[in-house]
Amino acid sequence: MSGQPTTDNNLIEDVAEFYAAIDRASLTHKLSAERPYVYTTMEIYDVNNGIRGAGGLGVLAADTRRVAEDLEIPFVMLTPFYREERHQTMNDFVPQDNYTPRKPTDFGFQKVGDVPVKIADKPEAMLEIYEKICGSTRFLTISEDNFGVLYGGDSSEDNRLYQMVALGFGGYQALKMRGLKPAVMQLNETATTFSAVARLDELCRNGMGIYEAIVYVRKHTLYTNHTLVMAAEPVYTYEQFEKYVFPNIVSPAVKHFISGLFRDARLRLNNLTIELAEAKNCVSRLHAKVINFTDLSGERVDFKAITNGIDFNTWLMPEIMDFYHDKGILDKFNMPGENFREILKSLVASDLRGFKKLGRAKLNKELETRKNQYGKIVQIPEGALLYEFKRRFVSYKRPWMPFEHPDEFRSILFENDAHYIMSGMMAGNVGAGDTTYDRLQVMLHNIDSEPYLRERVHYITDYDESLSAAMSAGSDVSINVPEVGWEACGTSFMKDIGDLTMLISTNDGGVADIEPPPVLEVRGENYQEEIASLYTQMRLAAEIWRDDQKWTEEITRQLAAYLPIMSGARMMRDYLRYLFKTN
Ligand SMILES: *Cc1c(COP(=O)(O)O)cnc(C)c1O
Repeated sequence: MSGQPTTDNNLIEDVAEFYAAIDRASLTHKLSAERPYVYTTMEIYDVNNGIRGAGGLGVLAADTRRVAEDLEIPFVMLTPFYREERHQTMNDFVPQDNYTPRKPTDFGFQKVGDVPVKIADKPEAMLEIYEKICGSTRFLTISEDNFGVLYGGDSSEDNRLYQMVALGFGGYQALKMRGLKPAVMQLNETATTFSAVARLDELCRNGMGIYEAIVYVRKHTLYTNHTLVMAAEPVYTYEQFEKYVFPNIVSPAVKHFISGLFRDARLRLNNLTIELAEAKNCVSRLHAKVINFTDLSGERVDFKAITNGIDFNTWLMPEIMDFYHDKGILDKFNMPGENFREILKSLVASDLRGFKKLGRAKLNKELETRKNQYGKIVQIPEGALLYEFKRRFVSYKRPWMPFEHPDEFRSILFENDAHYIMSGMMAGNVGAGDTTYDRLQVMLHNIDSEPYLRERVHYITDYDESLSAAMSAGSDVSINVPEVGWEACGTSFMKDIGDLTMLISTNDGGVADIEPPPVLEVRGENYQEEIASLYTQMRLAAEIWRDDQKWTEEITRQLAAYLPIMSGARMMRDYLRYLFKTN
């Protein structure tokens, strides 16, 4: 049938070559169209395919699929298709949420059937399964009119549990309906754990003993964790499980097993996930080192570090990608070429400056379709120094840090004739009194009260993928200052380094994969010292930016250090090596 993923027999040569390159040629026998790599996630950020996420977790999922498609890996993305998509505008410096309706059929999805999901004392809900095939990968999405929005309400509320149950049990039925048997199921966070439960139930229903079935499921499940604080994991009551989860389980042994994991009539989802996944990973080295999750017996759980990568084709300027390929900085798998470090060393400013000029034009084009905090369109002059901050507005990322001493900040901009641009989604559904909203409002009022800052500092609303890519392309200096120990990985900084933007960063998340981080590091014993350090690095960045040789050194030093880490193909290689250890 046309449009079907490639089967074992006609996997093109390149895949075998990729597998061979990662020393696991036998993978071509372990993964096939009927036995794919299954990735399951509540969130994916893939606007081209009609699904808008909220942040890094969704971006990672979308990039993982795109890299799999690029490498022709048989791959299935199991995820909800949300019927409503959140957008933000601004009113008196307070973000306002608006929702736009979305239909899978508008994005090339086809309906392939319905599957039921059961809720105690309610009629069965029917989930519609929509499929879309993209090369060797496919989306299988679940969807229904009353499904709700992404991250609506509190994480321990009924509707969130319903969404997880629908994705897990419904998604697993969808796999069966399409004749697919997962070679591995990657659970992107614990919210997806019910697909592993559904598999366990299927095995027991077919006559396997519960312990044997658990061993089997454990061997074929990977739990990817992005959370640093165990207390932030969702907790559900026994009552909620009786209503939403147990009606979807046939095997009494599986119900009994899960019941045994409750403590004080409550179950933390990660406790269930840890039981069902032998392979477990965190998304950067530091994250795997500091994570302190325990299982039910109180033992600390080991997580392997597999640092997130990005899909270069999505995030880097196509002109820069051509250059990296022509020069041999990237190979055909988008992994660093053999001599990439020497090649980077040989580059001069005139090889690279043109890309930033082009990037600025791209940014301005994107900004023509955008509004700032005053509802106005902004343009950044060609040739002007541009600082940027683009990430979700959550406390630990500290978007307000550059504004802590407005006079100092102002003088940095003034002395360098510089501009500052920022964007980032605010968490949804936060009521009045939310401190992040308050702090954003205060920050924007402070900017407004200073005539120079009002002209030079732009907050662009409705942050999304295309704005993110344009900001990486068109900015000169990117500011990434999470409170150390709080960023699981972060991928924005990778987009910046790839697009030749200088990075100012604290030593956290994926940046800390290299010790000491070869970037303009912000450090200090306390917050005040960190602020001072940030200003010092902002001044230094301006100085470097003006000097061709220093700038080239800085840009290529970042690339030489982080290119292997940033590579999405490298991330995929690491997952495949981890999951299919035996030959
Ligand atoms: C890249 C990207 C992210 C990821 O941001 P980090 O905070 O660096 O993990 C989030 N949202 C959008 C729209 C992005 O493009």
